[in-house]
Amino acid sequence: VTRARRIEHEFIEFIPDELAPNTLYISMAYATAIHLCVCGCGHRVVTPFSPTDWRLIFDGDTVSLDPSVGNWSFPCRSHYVLKRNQVVWADDWSPKMIAAGRARDRHAKAKYLGADMGKPATVPVQPGVRRRIPLWWLPRWLRRSER
Ligand SMILES: [Zn+2]
Repeated sequence: VTRARRIEHEFIEFIPDELAPNTLYISMAYATAIHLCVCGCGHRVVTPFSPTDWRLIFDGDTVSLDPSVGNWSFPCRSHYVLKRNQVVWADDWSPKMIAAGRARDRHAKAKYLGADMGKPATVPVQPGVRRRIPLWWLPRWLRRSER
């Protein structure tokens, strides 16, 4: 098991059952991406796109994800940045830094949604704005859909 230094990307509509290693699968329909942790541990990493989650940057050739991916809930605790299809390994964060980061995320999300995070279904939808539900809000049985 080796740490990847580069990933490929693939635009897809639905998440495939089998994920190839070192590949970022991007679904614009679901505004999310998924990949196997690039440390090689095999854990699935879901990165929904939203103003308070991740931003996908596609320059026509390569993709970047902003901000970094911190897999703190996995045993490997990998932390890396995907930049122009390169894997830039970052430092391990202390539990204190992780807690601060999570609190920041929660705050940003609550501010953005203006709603109780426990009830995503009640988020008001502005006319003309199509809200996409991040994949990780869906129950597992719904994630593999429409086949
Ligand atoms: Zn890992």
